[in-house]
Amino acid sequence: MKMENPALVELDGAAGEGGGQILRSALTLAMITGRPFVIRRIRAGRARPGLLRQHLTAVQAAAAICAAQVEGAELGSTQLRFDPGAVRAGNYRFAIGSAGSAALVLQTVLPALWLAGAASCVSVSGGTHNQSAPPFEFLAQAWTPLLARMGVKQTLSLLRHGFYPAGGGEIIAHVEPVAGLQGISLLERGPLQDMHAEALVAGVPYKVALRELESVLAAFPAAGQTVIELPMEQGPGNALLLRVVHEVGCEVFCGFGERGVSAERIANGVVQAARRYLASPAVVDAHLADQLLLPMALAGAGEFTATEASAHLLSNKAVIEAFLPVSIALSQCQAAVHVRVCASG
Ligand code: ATP
Repeated sequence: MKMENPALVELDGAAGEGGGQILRSALTLAMITGRPFVIRRIRAGRARPGLLRQHLTAVQAAAAICAAQVEGAELGSTQLRFDPGAVRAGNYRFAIGSAGSAALVLQTVLPALWLAGAASCVSVSGGTHNQSAPPFEFLAQAWTPLLARMGVKQTLSLLRHGFYPAGGGEIIAHVEPVAGLQGISLLERGPLQDMHAEALVAGVPYKVALRELESVLAAFPAAGQTVIELPMEQGPGNALLLRVVHEVGCEVFCGFGERGVSAERIANGVVQAARRYLASPAVVDAHLADQLLLPMALAGAGEFTATEASAHLLSNKAVIEAFLPVSIALSQCQAAVHVRVCASG
């Protein structure tokens, strides 16, 4: 996918959703296409704009893997220039140094390694179960199986859990390279096959987990349930994960324990999210939708139905179309949004 004398891509980090995803998708696409980019007003839409630790680690990880020249890679920086070199498969370790999301750093660099010439192993330490980011189980059970259907060969392992604010978790990804990805069509989710709730507690009373699971069971009596008591030193932390499996794939809904927020309220947030999804005919929920778009664009073809055209999805579409010769069309399809990726030009 590398281009001869690639043109500079100029991005406005304040556009659309205005968060870190614009930067992370640009890093991924620059690594893969060889196109340099400049991004200004990084995360201008957020309360603390500029590069936080998670974003800076994503920049450093991408730069290390493709020997990029980078200007502006500092904490708080609101502007960055990234000139990628060749992607090198290999063994890498990156430490965020805070509870910033290890999943988001991995999602930045893995696509370039899927298409590299040899196997890779990437370890990222930081948060593994964070607010506003995919928890490990979402990556492993929802995202990775759909990628596998596109031809991606990756396995993910959770070595240690990391919760906000302590961090200290670690995820390892093993990747076998492939020549290219294939488009898939996800238009029908098929029958519901399984629902299972897991409550994780680390240094948090066991009864918190039991109360969370009780609330989930009151809403979904057929759901399986498991309490996972983690070693104290991985906490303090609490996460509630609800896996919803249909014939075509899996969704993982999550909530995280917070001081001053009851176990019932955490569970209610998870139940409401799962109910909204189950009431929709869409195959993928909003988060999976924005995370499937880039791999599908690398395949150059594919389609899915999503519960909504989220701001993340629309912002990601704009970044992808700035780098790749694809067009991404969104249309309303009954109570869902039909997303279709096809080659352009
Ligand atoms: P900021 O929003 O502060 O810039 P950021 O860089 O961490 O932070 P975003 O740009 O908002 O993040 O991107 C967050 C990503 O995490 C998106 O891909 C979103 O779909 C995903 N995400 C958020 N919450 C969940 C969740 N509960 N399950 C799965 N994925 C999630």
